[in-house]
Amino acid sequence: MDMSQHSSLDLSFDLVLYDIDGTLVDTGGAGMFAIMTAAERYFGAPSPSLDLAGSTDLGIVKNLLDHYEHTADLIDVEEFFGIYHPLLEQSLRSEQYAGKILPCVEQCLQFDQQRGSAIGLLTGNTAQGAAIKMRHFGLDHHFGFGAYGDDHADRNRLGPVAQSRATHHTGREYSATRTLVIGDTPKDIACAHAMGARCLAVATGHFSFEQLRDHGADFVVNDLSEWLAMIS
Ligand SMILES: [Mg+2]
Repeated sequence: MDMSQHSSLDLSFDLVLYDIDGTLVDTGGAGMFAIMTAAERYFGAPSPSLDLAGSTDLGIVKNLLDHYEHTADLIDVEEFFGIYHPLLEQSLRSEQYAGKILPCVEQCLQFDQQRGSAIGLLTGNTAQGAAIKMRHFGLDHHFGFGAYGDDHADRNRLGPVAQSRATHHTGREYSATRTLVIGDTPKDIACAHAMGARCLAVATGHFSFEQLRDHGADFVVNDLSEWLAMIS
């Protein structure tokens, strides 16, 4: 996308909703290891390979059920996540996985705050998984609310949840047209558009700039340093 075409657009948003994996941080494989190990322990059989990009954790559990041919009422979701969350905490701390905060994340969060935008999470992680990851990377103080992958299995239903939690948290109303969703996958783009918001797609996950552009993101950048340059 030619960024110059946006030069006359208002790029300030009242509500900015951030995805976690591939957008704020890269866990270096720690998240994948934790969920696959949790699946192996819970179901007692090797985990299938999982497509985590943009998926909700509840959606991943449903895929696991299909794989292991369990029916939905045969899994105790809380028990499953009770295995997964400590594994996630351990694997993030493990030297085996070189996790990192992605470029310019903290500067973007500071910029949003200075500008008075409300900042929240819109992620496929469970609320607890999100809290574990944000604490691990020292980003937790930025986020007072969010919508999570244990609110709905369908990511497209998470936008309105985030919006109403933003209102509950700040006491202000937020229109979808003044909301920006920032994510790294086509599912983030679909989720933003399902709620009527704009999507900034960042090519810091597994999808290229071109793929994200072709999926209809309103703005695409190689990483958040480019976005910061556009908005500041
Ligand atoms: Mg992501």
